Amino acid sequence: MSVDYSKVHDVVVVGSGPAGYTAAIYTARAQLNPIVYEGSVTAGGALMNTTEVENFPGFENAIMGPDLMEQMRKQSLRFGANLVTDDIVSMNLDGEIKELEDGSGNKVRAKSIILAMGSAYKELGLANEKRLSGRGVSWCATCDGFFFREQVIAVVGGGDSAMEEANFLTKFASKVVVIHRREALRASKIMAERAKNNPKIEFVFNTEVLDVLGDEKVTGLKLKNSLTGEESIREFTGLFIAIGHLPRSELVKGQVKLNGEGYVEVEGRTTKTNIPGVFACGDLVDFTYRQAITAAGSGCQAALDAERFLSGH
Ligand code: NAP
Repeated sequence: MSVDYSKVHDVVVVGSGPAGYTAAIYTARAQLNPIVYEGSVTAGGALMNTTEVENFPGFENAIMGPDLMEQMRKQSLRFGANLVTDDIVSMNLDGEIKELEDGSGNKVRAKSIILAMGSAYKELGLANEKRLSGRGVSWCATCDGFFFREQVIAVVGGGDSAMEEANFLTKFASKVVVIHRREALRASKIMAERAKNNPKIEFVFNTEVLDVLGDEKVTGLKLKNSLTGEESIREFTGLFIAIGHLPRSELVKGQVKLNGEGYVEVEGRTTKTNIPGVFACGDLVDFTYRQAITAAGSGCQAALDAERFLSGH
């Protein structure tokens, strides 16, 4: 569907994870003809990089992350959402009519905006991590796991993502070593138990990654035991980083109120930001729950908040 750039639209949704697509479904069904910027390369959000989602209600036997997003996408299309496979590169949220510019230079105007830009992978912050990215360093097991057949690889992190990545990688690797900076895992019990019961997974606790080694490709890691201070080098051909996410709020910084960690602040239990007509949902806001189902729920709230805002104007 093409977008009429000459007109002022009711609502533009920026982002396309479970929050963005749910906001799209609700606003489309409310006949607000939403324009939805899905992103040029990241359409679908974080779930595009996951495997089985076992806890999204309604799928007794689990559903693959990308399939779930495709279902939500199609559901929004069924109600007439205008999906645009491009990024928003700048936003002017001042005044009653908000103006957004996309990656192709189009300017789209709207009375209300739903921010659902999600979050990005967190990096360890090591110089060689960036240099060797795509050469053994990866943030996505489902994308890159295949390249590590019969190899010994490391996963950094102690949360659900690290457990999921480690388990998935045992399909390919001969051994997966989970390196976690503390003794206790942050992961949920079920995910942690599954990883602990996997004979191909070894855990190394109380250990920091000091450096990623290798000229052309990853050859190993420099590690430090945080209890004894002892440093060591261990050989690996791959490093998967699963240490959480950072909110993608750069675009609205300076306009929308953010908390100290860069998450968008919303009013109470609503999705209202400090700017009238601008609503925020999903991982961009939520640093507590961060589940697909809670993101979808907040996308629904944002759509209802936007709908009420528009009917009041
Ligand atoms: P997370 O729960 O925030 O865990 C991040 C892990 O990385 C923590 O163990 C943390 O250590 C470690 N870490 C953070 N910064 C680090 C650094 N600079 N160096 C070394 N380690 C570092 O993130 P997540 O695992 O991505 O999960 C995010 C959310 O998604 C959670 O709510 C999770 O339940 C959900 N999720 C659910 C599923 C599922 O149910 N299928 C799958 C994936 C994710 P500390 O423990 O010391 O802080």
